Amino acid sequence: MIPYGRQKISASDIEAVLEVLRSPYLTQGPRVELFEKALASKLAVSHAVAVNSATSALHLACLALGVGNHDLVWTSAISFVASANAARYCGAEVDFVDIDPDTFNMSVDALAEKLSAARRSGGKLPKVVIPVDMAGQSADMSGIADLANEFGFKIIEDASHALGGSYRGISVGCCAFSDVTVFSFHPVKMITTGEGGACVTNNSDLANKIRRLRSHGITRDPSEMANVPDGPWYYEQLDLGFNYRITDIQCALGASQLERLDDFVEERNQISAKYGDLLERFEWLKLPHVDMDARSSFHLYIVQVDESAPSTRNRYFEAFRSSGILVNLHYIPIYRHPYYSAMQKFRPEEFPAAENYYKSAISLPIFPGLSDAQLDQIASVFSSSFGHQILF
Ligand SMILES: *Cc1c(COP(=O)(O)O)cnc(C)c1O
Repeated sequence: MIPYGRQKISASDIEAVLEVLRSPYLTQGPRVELFEKALASKLAVSHAVAVNSATSALHLACLALGVGNHDLVWTSAISFVASANAARYCGAEVDFVDIDPDTFNMSVDALAEKLSAARRSGGKLPKVVIPVDMAGQSADMSGIADLANEFGFKIIEDASHALGGSYRGISVGCCAFSDVTVFSFHPVKMITTGEGGACVTNNSDLANKIRRLRSHGITRDPSEMANVPDGPWYYEQLDLGFNYRITDIQCALGASQLERLDDFVEERNQISAKYGDLLERFEWLKLPHVDMDARSSFHLYIVQVDESAPSTRNRYFEAFRSSGILVNLHYIPIYRHPYYSAMQKFRPEEFPAAENYYKSAISLPIFPGLSDAQLDQIASVFSSSFGHQILF
């Protein structure tokens, strides 16, 4: 069986975790901050706050930017549901922006049109826009940042796929074009902590808020307190926060993995190049578009099966699965999920590129350690001839 993604754990990762298990602190010890410092320094950003998932990171980023009940948040029509759910946790309304048909990232043209239409009709403008760096390739962040200046929204970049990628020569996560950038450390992502995520930002107020909300809204800093401390035990809860903390066990793994991030990204890029060589002969397959502004971390390798193909996307998908190659589809357009479609606000015709993507895409396996023999096996499925028989 070949999964679509998996972690790569080394002996040094295991040793790093064991060291924590032998130490006095399993959580709230020194490793969390060490991991945050290493991450911030790697990305050339001022602050990193590690939490227990990217979903929590998205939620806290929305809260720190003041997203609440009467606000509107826009995200990309093609993403994992967490990009939209974060806004719903804050009570905000969600709407979607169609994707660019080549990069599968939020289309800057569609965003500009939707913003202008909202302004013309006196409708509500979004407080926050959450673009997603699909498959590991940065969204057109400069174009989105220009629109943020013009229309006055904040940007949370969902870079769950893109740790180790770069855009215009600078690292994804340096926050040159976003207020907060979010990463995931789920095992299929670029590096792992088991479960985990982080917010990074250059804004120290946002970093402080996120840090406080991660742990119940509690502060131990007298300069932030409403009252004079009663004694050395004293702390204050200032906001309604959560327990979104990550453990030292997880951060030891994350810090150890982070040391090999560049190797992981390099290997993923090499696998992508090999796929290119193996698949270019299928002229009915659309291979990933490489944006010259970006270096993708290749979290995903997504191909699209054209209508001129000898068989349908669904047939190829089933053929992969039945030969033990666990291809996937990232993602079902978010507005198609019953939770969102029940709101009766979203019409699929408004998102033609997302709909077309959903009809044609397949995510092929990609992860460090995927062998050349496995790549050959995967590519050969596209030469299967299904004839006219109904296989499934
Ligand atoms: C994986 C992912 C998330 C959620 O990450 P968790 O760490 O599992 O919460 C959010 N957004 C995108 C785009 C993702 O791929």
